[in-house]
Amino acid sequence: MNHPPRVVKDAVIHRDGGFCILALNRCQGEATTTDHRANRQAGGSRILNHPANLIAACAICNGDKADAGAIVLHDLEERGLYIRPGATHAATLQRAIATPVMDLAGDLWLLVDAHTRTPYERES
Ligand SMILES: [Zn+2]
Repeated sequence: MNHPPRVVKDAVIHRDGGFCILALNRCQGEATTTDHRANRQAGGSRILNHPANLIAACAICNGDKADAGAIVLHDLEERGLYIRPGATHAATLQRAIATPVMDLAGDLWLLVDAHTRTPYERES
């Protein structure tokens, strides 16, 4: 398994404000790791280690998301925190880049790289 480098994880946690964005039932609050919005498949691809596919998470939510059922995944998908797999890893990554993430305050962000996120303007 190729995990994102620690330096990338730390940058993503800082980018996202230091708190777990998943905020599932057992959330610990402080983010200590990163979660893949689109899960890497078996034999996974490094392309899905792109920072736009990573969000700040606590270890508990990171594990709980992996075991989550349809209702929880639907909620996470609504917040841009779960991305369904596309036909290819590249297509999946493009979907992640184009899908805004909702933070704990309800604001939407497009994830650019490990250090940058830009406000997403809702269409009115
Ligand atoms: Zn959490």
